[in-house]
Amino acid sequence: MCFVISAPSGAGKSTIANALRASEPQLQHSVSVTTRQPRPGEKDGVHYHFRTMEQFEYMASSGELLEWATVFGRGYGTPRAPVEAALEAGHDMVFDIDWQGHQQIRAALPDDVVSLFVLPPSLAELERRLHSRASDHIEEIARRMAAARDEISHWHEFDHVVVNKDLDRAIFEARAVLTSGRLKTRRQTGLAEFIATFGA
Ligand code: 5GP
Repeated sequence: MCFVISAPSGAGKSTIANALRASEPQLQHSVSVTTRQPRPGEKDGVHYHFRTMEQFEYMASSGELLEWATVFGRGYGTPRAPVEAALEAGHDMVFDIDWQGHQQIRAALPDDVVSLFVLPPSLAELERRLHSRASDHIEEIARRMAAARDEISHWHEFDHVVVNKDLDRAIFEARAVLTSGRLKTRRQTGLAEFIATFGA
């Protein structure tokens, strides 16, 4: 299953995705390719694959990316091969991508996507959270606030929505969405024993 989580910057999407992964080590994380500079503490191959625009464009044009988009003027994309390997092995993968990526992954893998949009309690709270992040400059924050409105306008395209007012509650709700996605009838892989006894 592809568990897509989108949100405007600062809504808490990465924190929620990290909490899910911490409690479920078998959950894989799709490491995106990006042309932006690493923030302090970000490691190549762990948080992102940091690449030049030229390398990114080559990957996009040669089909190495399952989806890709330009966000804040920089390229972001999902490497195709790890996703196909995870699905083949029956593993679940979390995608921290934007609404454009969600649309493309849903179109490419319609039976495998479960999606969640994380909303902040309000735009004012979102702005406050962006200001408290030391890693972004003032111009970057203004750009992200403008982009936030655009991102939020797509919330209704997602299967599920969680308002991150209280982080523990938001994590609880996101985990419930993940569990419910896994329990979808068509994804159940642990039913062999039951089906053998049922005879159908
Ligand atoms: P940031 O630069 O803050 O890490 O990410 C900026 C935005 O790019 C976020 O909305 C994030 O979800 C989105 N993003 C990150 N990776 C991908 C990707 O592989 N594909 C797409 N479409 N968006 C991505």
